This record gives sequence, structure tokens and C-alpha cells, in this order.
Amino acid sequence: MNSIWEERSFVKNPDLVVVGAGITGLFTALHARTQDPHRRILVLERGPHPSGASVKNGGFACFGSPSQLMFDLDNEGADVALRRVEERWKGLGELRKTLGDEAIGYEPVGGYELFREGSELHPRVAERLPELNRLLHGIFSRDVFSWADDRLSGLGLHAAHLSWNALEGAVDSGRLMRTLLHRVQGSGVDVRFNTEVDGWHDQANGMELQLRSGGVVKAGQAVIATNGYVRNLVPGSDVVPGRGQMLITSPIPGLKLKGTFHMAEGYYYIRDYDGRVLLGGARHLDFSGETTMEDGTTALIQDNLEQLLRDTIIPGVPFHIEHRWSGVMGFREHGGPTAVEHLSPHVVVAAGLGGIGVAVGIRVAKRAADLVA
Ligand SMILES: Cc1cc2nc3c(=O)[nH]c(=O)nc-3n(C[C@H](O)[C@H](O)[C@H](O)COP(=O)(O)OP(=O)(O)OC[C@H]3O[C@@H](n4cnc5c(N)ncnc54)[C@H](O)[C@@H]3O)c2cc1C
Repeated sequence: MNSIWEERSFVKNPDLVVVGAGITGLFTALHARTQDPHRRILVLERGPHPSGASVKNGGFACFGSPSQLMFDLDNEGADVALRRVEERWKGLGELRKTLGDEAIGYEPVGGYELFREGSELHPRVAERLPELNRLLHGIFSRDVFSWADDRLSGLGLHAAHLSWNALEGAVDSGRLMRTLLHRVQGSGVDVRFNTEVDGWHDQANGMELQLRSGGVVKAGQAVIATNGYVRNLVPGSDVVPGRGQMLITSPIPGLKLKGTFHMAEGYYYIRDYDGRVLLGGARHLDFSGETTMEDGTTALIQDNLEQLLRDTIIPGVPFHIEHRWSGVMGFREHGGPTAVEHLSPHVVVAAGLGGIGVAVGIRVAKRAADLVA
């Protein structure tokens, strides 16, 4: 028997439910709250805290390395590829402005791309870097990328070439998500953890969500923001899961590495964090095995990452691996921008942020919130 207070403040059907408390879901709730302070908004998250890629990632505040951007230009054409860079760049600015650099642990350390001896990518990138800079002038009004081979030894790296871009940085993804969660809760949005949504259906005057616990939540509208896990709720979605594996070393005395580094079209990502090396990627070594929503690490990928540490990142430096983990990204099957669209009159999906979601999450969320405004 609920009291009138419970009914009015806790039980009443929400106007909007957001499924998933990642960067997309939480910013969707925040935008929706800003648009209408009187709307009752509920976020449902299956984990005990935000538990998806937003808290498993590398914390790169980036918009793409030269070889990655060249790959996109060749595969998607200049319009789509450049629009995506612009989205990332604007998104990073909005993220920093909205939450504040201090609160997200932002460090303006710049971004590098590493090329090892004999790299097949390097000659192609070297030849086209002026063209890439020219194309990016429309967004940045300046040359973004330059060469910084002379910094290799100072950073302790054993590699042949290094490109540099001063505009990228690093965030502390844990602090970012805590700050965002507190902002959302402080704005009056309810966030319910340990609540897995199992299914949904649209109805004449709203929609209904079935919970794993057996309960039901009725709402006016819903946004499904479960990214790499979206196929559990939207079986026909063209967003496929892509697992990313990570590792971090124990503290390394006198670590020379400083900054964020990419390699091999963005398939490797390496940075310093708290006196350690944080490293992830190598999904391209086993695309089919890593097309999974399962958490886990494999010897194939972890060994490859460790080898990269030994050969290239901290050669000759003893280390041990303190921690390994994985997270699940969501990729559009045939490329293209993040899907933000109506699935039915009262249900919107926002998924498929790809490998650089920290930058775009806030803008994807705005598009989702606008659709349910
Ligand atoms: C290993 C790794 C490294 C990465 N590194 C970077 C990086 O350095 N920089 C960068 O920009 N991007 C990076 N990314 C990508 C970026 O983290 C993602 O694009 C972004 O976090 C996606 O945010 P999201 O909110 O859409 O999804 P998520 O953060 O995955 O959030 C989805 C949420 O939905 C919840 N959920 C799922 N199913 C249900 C359900 N049925 N019911 C209720 N809740 C559910 C999940 O628990 C999760 O909390 C990385 C990703 C990974 C995996």
C-alpha cells in the first residue's frame, strides 16, 4: 500500500525513461531535464553503477589519428568523415564546458600517432598529411597534424616516426562519469541501478518496459541508450558489438611516456595514467572473436598488447600487469554516424558510437533528447 507521497514522488509513471546510464543515456536525461524541468525522467541501468564502455574506456579525449582519419576519408568519403571529426571536436568542447575540466580530470596532453620501423602506413600518411591538414582547415582553421620524430627518445619510445596534434587530451573516465551522474541526479532525474530491461513495446498512449526482475515500468516515451548491447533490446539493429580489451601496468618509476598515443588506424591506444602505462586495442587481430557482448580477455590479444609494451612503448623497462579488463563498443555494421532515430512512436534508439564515443556522447544525447522533447 503506497502512501500519497510515494505515489506522487516515486511511483508515478515517468514521462521519459532512458535505458542505460552510460555517457549517452545520462546526457540524454540531462538534456531532457534542461528542456523541460517539470518532466519526470527515470534512468534504468542494469549494473550497480554505470557499467558499459563509458567506464571501461581509455579516457582519450580525441577526434582521430591521421591514419584513422585517412581510412575514414577513403571508405566513407570526405563529407561523412569530416562531419564526424567536426562532431567529435564540438562534442569535446561541449563536454569540457558542461562538466568542467577539473571535474572530468581533463589533461591537455595532446595526441600522437606512432609508426614503427617498416610501417606500411607511414609512407602513405606522410604523403597525404598536407592534404589531411588542408581538409581539416574548414573545422580547425589551422594545421592540426605535424611530425614530432625528435620527441621519440624523450618519451622512451622505440618507434620510427611520431605525428603530433596539440588539440587532443585525456580524461579520467571514472571522474567524468561520477560527475555526470551526480549532475543528473542533482537535476532531479531518478536513476535506478541493478535494473535490467528485458523488453519493451509501444502502446497507444505511451510505452511499457519489461524488467528482468519481472516488473513493468510504464512511461510516456523511452530512449534506448545501451550502445553495444542494443541488439538485446532491438534485435534487428545494425549496431554490432565490438569488444575492446585493456591492460594497465603497475607504477613504473621514472616513466618517460606522457600523453595519448594511437597506432595502426586507431586499433591501438596507449597513454600514461598515474605513473603507469594504460594500453588497449588489437581488436583487428580477431574481429570475429571480439564481436561479442561478453566481458573477457584473451591470450591472443593480451599477449600482443604486452609485446607492444616490450618492443615499442617501454623497451627494456621491467613491468608487470596490474589489471586487465574489457568493454563493449557499438559499431554501425556498414559504417556511418551514430543511429539516433525513432523505433516506434514513443521509443527512440541512440546507439553505435564506435570507438570515439567520449567525444560525441554529449551530442548524440542532444539529438536523442530532441526527438523525445
Ligand atoms: C575498451 C574501450 C576503450 C575505449 N576507449 C575510448 C577512448 O579512449 N575515447 C573515446 O572517445 N571512446 C572510447 N571508447 C568508446 C566509448 O567508451 C563509447 O563509445 C561510449 O562510452 C559509449 O557510451 P554509451 O553511453 O553509448 O554506452 P555505454 O557506456 O556502453 O552505456 C550503455 C549502458 O547501458 C547499460 N545496459 C545495457 N543493457 C541494458 C539493459 N538491458 N537494461 C538496462 N541497462 C542496460 C549498460 O550497463 C551500460 O551502462 C572505448 C570503448 C571501449 C570498450
